[in-house]
Amino acid sequence: MDRPSNWRQEAVEIPREELLRPGHPACPGCGAAPSMRLALKALGPKTMVVIPASCWSVIAGAHPNFSLEVPLLHTPFLSGAAAAAGLKAALEAQGDRETLVMAWAGDGGTYDIGFQGLSGAAERRTDMLYVCYDNEAYMNTGGQRSSATPVGTRTGTTPGGKPEEKKDLLNIMVAHGVSYVATATLAYPQDFLTKFKKAREKRGFRFIHLLSPCPTGWGFPEEKTVTIARMAVESGAYRLMEWDGEEWYTTRQPSFRVKVEDYLQAQTRFAHLTGQELQEIAKQTAAYWEKVSRKE
Ligand code: SF4
Repeated sequence: MDRPSNWRQEAVEIPREELLRPGHPACPGCGAAPSMRLALKALGPKTMVVIPASCWSVIAGAHPNFSLEVPLLHTPFLSGAAAAAGLKAALEAQGDRETLVMAWAGDGGTYDIGFQGLSGAAERRTDMLYVCYDNEAYMNTGGQRSSATPVGTRTGTTPGGKPEEKKDLLNIMVAHGVSYVATATLAYPQDFLTKFKKAREKRGFRFIHLLSPCPTGWGFPEEKTVTIARMAVESGAYRLMEWDGEEWYTTRQPSFRVKVEDYLQAQTRFAHLTGQELQEIAKQTAAYWEKVSRKE
């Protein structure tokens, strides 16, 4: 469902305080690093971050050289949500209801390996925020397919292109009865900050999915990260939406000035596809988002 025609997101001031330190070891052009920077600007210093194994385990680094200015807990791949739930329980036992616990996981740690803990924490309506920064494959181990990898993508384990479509995790989270679900990407910082601020204010289990372009794994020039994220949204290959507990709203309509085929062709992970296959994937992508946003 679209927002009413007179609906506008209020402009959000971007705080000057930096909670991500410079000099971290993310690849040049990594979309996941500025995503964390923006997220922490919205959430503020009263935040604890839990990071299961992922690229961000490396980007965050080890004590005493953490790249974050907020407390950080590293966990194994499968236990990000469980550890965050435990941390939240410990804070509550100390009477601290102000500090937000945010699990920050890649798609492998969310859609696949960490799904059991995620489902458990969501079903218990744990008072926490879970963020999946989705680079659409296991990038920290060299780019193997995950269930978040889009159809047609060439990865280390799908050299001919992945046959299956991306898992509809957004509605799986909705089905858990959580209080907030949203999608965002760094190319639209106002939309991004608005959703993180909203998630900060809510109680219960909140889930935000981030499209996180990865120049290393997707195969595009490192200075094009924002352009690629914008092409994804404007072509309709990725939708900016939110679930407010009752229904899906689109927070930014695609302009369709860019075609899904153009978005795909800008990345070498789709270079093996023929023109006809690109058109077929464009159709499947449109059908995928239609299906996601119609489940109300
Ligand atoms: S592999 Fe991709 S997601 Fe991981 S740090 Fe490099 S650019 Fe970022």
